[in-house]
Amino acid sequence: MDSTDILVVGGGLAGLAAAARLASDGARVIVADKAAPPPVDVAQDGADLRTTAFLQPAIDTLRKAGAWEGMAEGAEALWTMRILDAGGRVNAVRERAEFDSGEMGERPFGFNVRNTDARRALEAPLRDLGVEVRAPAGLERLTLRDDCAFALLGDGSTVRAQLVIGADGRDSGVRDAAGIAARRWRYGQKALVFAVRHPRPHGGASTEIHRSGGPFTLVPMPDADGWHMSSVVWLERAAEADRLAALPAEAFEDALNARSLDLLGRLEVVGRKALYPIICQISDRMAARRVALMAEAVHVISPIGAQGLNMSLADLEDLAGRIAAARAQGRDIGGRDVLSGYQRRRWPETAARVAGVDALNRAALAEAQPLRDLRRLGLAAVGRLAPLRRTAMRIGMGMR
Ligand SMILES: Cc1cc2nc3c(=O)[nH]c(=O)nc-3n(C[C@H](O)[C@H](O)[C@H](O)COP(=O)(O)OP(=O)(O)OC[C@H]3O[C@@H](n4cnc5c(N)ncnc54)[C@H](O)[C@@H]3O)c2cc1C
Repeated sequence: MDSTDILVVGGGLAGLAAAARLASDGARVIVADKAAPPPVDVAQDGADLRTTAFLQPAIDTLRKAGAWEGMAEGAEALWTMRILDAGGRVNAVRERAEFDSGEMGERPFGFNVRNTDARRALEAPLRDLGVEVRAPAGLERLTLRDDCAFALLGDGSTVRAQLVIGADGRDSGVRDAAGIAARRWRYGQKALVFAVRHPRPHGGASTEIHRSGGPFTLVPMPDADGWHMSSVVWLERAAEADRLAALPAEAFEDALNARSLDLLGRLEVVGRKALYPIICQISDRMAARRVALMAEAVHVISPIGAQGLNMSLADLEDLAGRIAAARAQGRDIGGRDVLSGYQRRRWPETAARVAGVDALNRAALAEAQPLRDLRRLGLAAVGRLAPLRRTAMRIGMGMR
């Protein structure tokens, strides 16, 4: 049997970040994932085609994990967040709100990074930090005792740990083993994700265009091969998303360009497209005896506002602070006070953010004209009133 301080179950971006961040603080960490790692070359089948807009608080966590340097080179700064409402009878901008990072200080809101680059950069420091990654080695059985936890893994090994971190995604086995329930609801919506090139520069602005069905978002990427580039997250009713995804290339680009309002000139798709069903989910708790849940094991939200992984890194930062304090004081890192403090601090904040993103997504989906008008008026108020705009920016950045 192997013994460790922390067993991280789940080697997605959140689990890898947890391993690197906690091992950087001196903890002995093992990661176990049920699947072999996906490719980190976007051209390969099975690679994650998404990008992540990491906001400044998340970047601080990635720095502490020793992973930011590896991401920075391929990252594009986000200086402006623009929301446009095109929800009228004519497909044209009716209202706009613009959020400029200059109103918050001198730094950009954050940086947009390819998920493949993020994975590569998170994997890089693990060997030097002594983190062992076991994959494929899914969680088979978890025994939670007062003094430690025992995990039987799919590769036949057993790990004894002071603390088990469940970063094993929306269908978390750690969550089930700890007896924590979760509530899930669906919107009948899917996200189409792909990269585009365009003749006009994005100027570091991320633009979210609202019509019914959900927002269409252009997120800046670094220039490549002499072209300006952006990633697109296009939310639509599921049937419409399926229809669009099945269109021949030329017809798809026509639909895409009608939806993008010609903001950056004619968009051309680069590479493959991926479809993600959109759900919302929240677990009843984030901690149990010897267990801390984080990331999608706790919260799954619509990509609107780019909050998901940023929230996961906020979970991690809170937990890392409590573990470091316990270690410094010679207390048990998987003990009751560490876990109850984490639950008390993170759960209410998580619940509020899940509710906020849920409300935004429902407003974005609105079909009825009076609701669309209400959405436009809300946007107008936020766009024109500086205090409201600054509050919205602070909330969006995950600041208290
Ligand atoms: C279209 C789209 C765009 C997004 N854009 C952004 C953005 O801009 N900013 C942002 O912050 N967030 C964004 N998100 C959210 C973000 O992508 C997710 O939060 C993140 O990918 C989830 O990572 P995770 O590690 O929590 O879960 P996962 O990636 O699901 O990882 C879970 C891991 O656990 C493993 N696992 C599962 N069960 C077991 C088991 N029993 N034993 C061992 N291992 C197990 C799985 O194999 C997997 O590797 C976006 C999401 C979508 C859909």
